[in-house]
Amino acid sequence: MSEAFHGAEYCWMNGEVVKTEDALVSAMEPIYLGIFEGIKAYVEGDVLKEGKLNIFGWKPHIDRLWRSAAVNGITMPYTKEEMLEATRQAIKANGFETNVYIQPRIWPKAGTGRYLAKEFHVVVPTWKFDTLLGKDNPRFREERRYMISSWRRISSDALPPQAKSWANYGNSGLATREAARLGYDGAIFLDRRGFVSEGTGACLMAVRDGKVVTPPVTASILESVTRGCLIEFIAEDLGIPVEVRDFTRVELYAADEVFLCGTGAEVTPITSIDDMKVGEEYPGPITAKVAGHYSEILAGNVEKRRNWLTPV
Ligand code: PMP
Repeated sequence: MSEAFHGAEYCWMNGEVVKTEDALVSAMEPIYLGIFEGIKAYVEGDVLKEGKLNIFGWKPHIDRLWRSAAVNGITMPYTKEEMLEATRQAIKANGFETNVYIQPRIWPKAGTGRYLAKEFHVVVPTWKFDTLLGKDNPRFREERRYMISSWRRISSDALPPQAKSWANYGNSGLATREAARLGYDGAIFLDRRGFVSEGTGACLMAVRDGKVVTPPVTASILESVTRGCLIEFIAEDLGIPVEVRDFTRVELYAADEVFLCGTGAEVTPITSIDDMKVGEEYPGPITAKVAGHYSEILAGNVEKRRNWLTPV
């Protein structure tokens, strides 16, 4: 079984490193009221090798966790500095020397008030993952057939997609299951207005006439750390114009390239949408350029972007 389903041997829970199999709570805990973050640490020098690890985007991830907590009535019982130390301890306890995924999970402690809880569990599990990135990685080129979901993305006036709460992933589950039933690899959401929103667990970018376009935060997206960094480096480091604006599914069908971006998705090219092939070349040249530069940033090889990395 993959580590993603049972976690690595050790995790950090409520103040100490414990064996993950001993990180137990009652089945009656209101975990469904919880929030989480998805963060990655990559190997210095080359993301396909082994070595010392750096956490990517620690500050924006931990700041978003605090915002998710505020929206969901959770008071974080540790400081941001303590969360970084907890994360370091969880990674070190497992002796990782390959890329790792880190998923801090916070939820109200049973019996302390549920919706107005006073006490919270904080767990930091980690596990290894296989990157799509790195030079000549064959996984990057795999075909990916996506569809526009018949489900719309949740909106801020009902269940704010900006806060990373487990509840939001009920919406993602509907779209993912629909896509799987119909034989697609994944789904893209439109927002309530009918504009392109995001994937089920990643943001979306399209290439049109040499420009990268991506939906705004008001299109019911998660304020993605990866998207923020890509917007910055695509324009500044690669000299490719980036437009943050609404667009419709028609523009998506007509795009030269489409890719997903996110901590999990990294930079994931999409081959077709609703069985219409995207562009002429797959993966597209700009997608490949963005993925290549992103992987160099993650490996710490881009001096200007080293401040996006935090050593473990
Ligand atoms: N949208 C959704 C719904 C997500 O689950 C994720 C993954 N966290 C993203 C976008 C990408 O966000 P980030 O780049 O911060 O991982």
